[in-house]
Amino acid sequence: MNFDLHCHSSISDGVLNPAELVQRAAEKGVDVLALTDHDDVAGLAEASQKAQECGIGFINGVEISVTWSGVTLHVVGLNINANHPDLQAGLAAIQEGRRERAERIGHELGKHGIADAFDGAMRHAANPRLIGRTHFARHLIEQGVCKDVRTVFKKYLVRGKPGYVAHEWTALENALAWIRASGGQAVLAHPGRYDLKGKATRRLLGEFKDLGGEGVEVVTGSHTPDQHALFAELANFYGLTASRGSDFHAPGEYRELGGGPDLPLKCTPIWHNWGINKHNS
Ligand code: AMP
Ligand code: MN
Ligand code: MN
Ligand code: MN
Repeated sequence: MNFDLHCHSSISDGVLNPAELVQRAAEKGVDVLALTDHDDVAGLAEASQKAQECGIGFINGVEISVTWSGVTLHVVGLNINANHPDLQAGLAAIQEGRRERAERIGHELGKHGIADAFDGAMRHAANPRLIGRTHFARHLIEQGVCKDVRTVFKKYLVRGKPGYVAHEWTALENALAWIRASGGQAVLAHPGRYDLKGKATRRLLGEFKDLGGEGVEVVTGSHTPDQHALFAELANFYGLTASRGSDFHAPGEYRELGGGPDLPLKCTPIWHNWGINKHNS
């Protein structure tokens, strides 16, 4: 079965609305989809409804932005109750921080000759609560400043570049507490992408497990084959299950919905006890 447990709609920085996203997932052969928008759960009801119409399985998800040891991490919550008050209050606080950060990004870009970037980015954000760097990237592409998202990030939006600003997200223990309080399972997203040395990665996985974390994304759009093997090994070592997701944002950008290899055989899939099989999904 094809599980895709990480993707984005226009509720965060994806380009398809939740119903279009689910429709596309079904067309691409996904059997079970989790919608995991950044720091917002507003797309889940529409996506879940559409999944039922399309006859595919659906899991409520979210991808929470975290600062841990000075590094930004992403934690995916699966099977969350989107209405839980702790989760909702936590996400609302992150959203406020996002807006304030976006104003600072706009200001920094303005100092480097790119006027009105905040308003321009906002025009690309279908959900103004969830303004992020990708919306700035799409605006700069539209303005002809860069040719694609990858280039805008490299030239403008990562540490040391003109539009980068430091930002303090929520703490790892908060994200895990909200996910657990709402009945969900926490998964460390794309661990190969963080700016961490091997030792710090191990410390993170140990802490993540101690705080009640459940799984690690082993197969994701941003991992190499070597990283599939490495994180499968580390997940087993720390007693964490394994997840699989495309991290899809837009057609033609990076990995397609449902794309990528199966989990390595030695992993325990995070869905092993979900009671889902082809027949009932
Ligand atoms: P934000 O949460 O606003 O800082 O934006 C993070 C998002 O930006 C990620 O989820 C990706 O969608 C996108 N992103 C981050 N780094 C890159 C990159 N190097 N190239 C393209 N997209 C990126
Ligand atoms: Mn994103
Ligand atoms: Mn992420
Ligand atoms: Mn993501």
